[in-house]
Amino acid sequence: MTSSDFSKHLLEWYDKFGRHSLPWQLEQSPYHVWISETMLQQTQVSTVTPYFKRFIHRFPSVCALAQADEDELMRYWSGLGYYRRAMYLHQSAKIIQDKHNGLVPDTYDNLIQLPGIGRSTAGAILSLGYNKAFPILDGNVKRVLCRYYGIKGWPDATKNLKQLWSLAETLLPQNRSRDYGQASMDLGALVCHKKKPKCTQCPLQAQCQTFRYQEFDTIPGKKPKTKIKKKTFYALLQQNSEHQWLLTKQPKEGLWPNLWTFPLIETKPESSSYVLQPFKHQLTHYQLTIIPILAFERAIEIPHEHFSLQAMKQLGLNRPSQKIAETLMLQPAQIPLMIS
Ligand code: SF4
Repeated sequence: MTSSDFSKHLLEWYDKFGRHSLPWQLEQSPYHVWISETMLQQTQVSTVTPYFKRFIHRFPSVCALAQADEDELMRYWSGLGYYRRAMYLHQSAKIIQDKHNGLVPDTYDNLIQLPGIGRSTAGAILSLGYNKAFPILDGNVKRVLCRYYGIKGWPDATKNLKQLWSLAETLLPQNRSRDYGQASMDLGALVCHKKKPKCTQCPLQAQCQTFRYQEFDTIPGKKPKTKIKKKTFYALLQQNSEHQWLLTKQPKEGLWPNLWTFPLIETKPESSSYVLQPFKHQLTHYQLTIIPILAFERAIEIPHEHFSLQAMKQLGLNRPSQKIAETLMLQPAQIPLMIS
């Protein structure tokens, strides 16, 4: 199959079976593509959809995002994880507002200089947003290409990645760039599943090397294992005489950049008692155990502020603190008043 046959078969399939009404396809603006592609990194379409709708409703343009209050922005992102993505969006929106008149750049060179925009996101903005011929290489596209060409090993290994970019560029059609970009992602998402690909429905089956040799279990290869570390945090619960709870803002470099949390410490304070059930929280490289604990000490040395449970709804809280706040809402009577 030549590269033009590849795109022809893929586009014919897309016209009949592709996704045409995702929320970010309704108005295919480069801004919507940028936001959705950033949200979709490491996150499923079904999870992203409600976040995207809320986000665009509140921040309908680059300028609205550039002028956003950071806490409010984090609140709209809270629960999606990988919080640095939200910080990069904010930083990039400010740059676009100042340097590009509020218009998402339409050249690769300008896009790639923005914080948080890598080669694939730039390609998605240019192809889906501007209908220009640039390759996208997200997880779905990588899987399809690895299988179609029988590329063994982990797709993100340097050698494989280089080959995949080169193939993705070679396969680009001369026209219908927007549809081709969407089609290449859709085939991976809808047909060439990680487990049990639906090869009988695939427009590329005739030339697919993985189908030919039935190597679905080994192609694409798995990511080399990174060790998941275990950590325990004590979440300090301390309220003032107005029944407001003490929260701290996490540093930019930590696990939850710029999010508010109940103070999290790794050593149990001497003067404290257990009040709520400990719970587990999974991050990419950490399995956390969070132990909410009533803290009796007056002095908290890190910068902090007090908030009512109601006011916390307006903050960007990390997920464990949201969970604690929700529990406190439900069982306030069990928590004695603390003086801080
Ligand atoms: Fe994937 Fe099967 Fe299509 Fe090959 S034939 S690209 S393995 S769905």
